[in-house]
Amino acid sequence: MLENWTIGKNSHHSTTPKEQMAIKLSTGQFEQIGKYGEAAFPNECCGFILGKLVDGQKVVTGFLPAANEREDEEQYHRFLITPEAYRAADKEARGRGLDVLGFYHSHPNAEARPSQYDLDHAWPWYSYIIVSVKERTAGELTSWVLNDDRTKFDGEDILAAIREDLFVPQSGDASRRL
Ligand SMILES: [Zn+2]
Repeated sequence: MLENWTIGKNSHHSTTPKEQMAIKLSTGQFEQIGKYGEAAFPNECCGFILGKLVDGQKVVTGFLPAANEREDEEQYHRFLITPEAYRAADKEARGRGLDVLGFYHSHPNAEARPSQYDLDHAWPWYSYIIVSVKERTAGELTSWVLNDDRTKFDGEDILAAIREDLFVPQSGDASRRL
């Protein structure tokens, strides 16, 4: 299903019901997260998801890999993005006319379900994409958003973007694709 949308077409983001929130990924982006996970195996990869809100959907334009700041012996099941890394990524995104939409990380030899650690460290609104990587091969990919009372994650719909170049920056927006 090819949609005809552009950034800023309508500004009703805040009135979009939460259950309609979704994240939109192209096939290439979907595969890219798997590749990050496979490259980091047996450790977890992690990084930032950049893009724009368009009609209440998080439209992904690219990723910013981050260093996993956990101590080495913990990296197989923990990831940590420091506030400094977040600020740098946020600055980088804004410089491109984009926003940080969330975070991705991998679960080596585990399911693509958030752990208690993930829940304890999650921030509201952001998407948490998790890819399961078993024996160096990426498998299931899921996306999650913290619920309002922060007690659990709700699954977030992942929509397929047909083509990455459908992303159209706002006029006067000097952003470039990642
Ligand atoms: Zn996790």
